[in-house]
Amino acid sequence: MLIKCHAHGKFYTIECPVGSRIVLAPDGEMALQDHLVVPLNGKEIRIPADPPELLPLLAESGNFGVTLVGEPEPDVSLAGASCPDCGEADVTWLQVRDDSESVHCDRCGVDFESPVRHAGAVPSSDITRG
Ligand SMILES: [Zn+2]
Repeated sequence: MLIKCHAHGKFYTIECPVGSRIVLAPDGEMALQDHLVVPLNGKEIRIPADPPELLPLLAESGNFGVTLVGEPEPDVSLAGASCPDCGEADVTWLQVRDDSESVHCDRCGVDFESPVRHAGAVPSSDITRG
């Protein structure tokens, strides 16, 4: 089973083993949350859907029966982004902060503004660099 997971401004494709299933929490049951059930070594492990970056992280580690397929694909907020400091443009290294519009470069640790302006934002005038 292949599932798509969205985290940090990227879409991850994740391969789940046969027998995996997604369990959606019933409405109003705050104690329960959506989660993925993955069979592993005769047991079933639960991977919560929140935080969204958890599943890609576990898939990357390769220890939970789930694996990453291919490279992450950037969503609109990361498309065309590149780090102004080290020039990194590989979305694998770039993360969109959940609480802001800035992008974090995992390679050099710099935060920079997302290249995508949200609707309603005032367009910046062109700056001529000397
Ligand atoms: Zn950088």
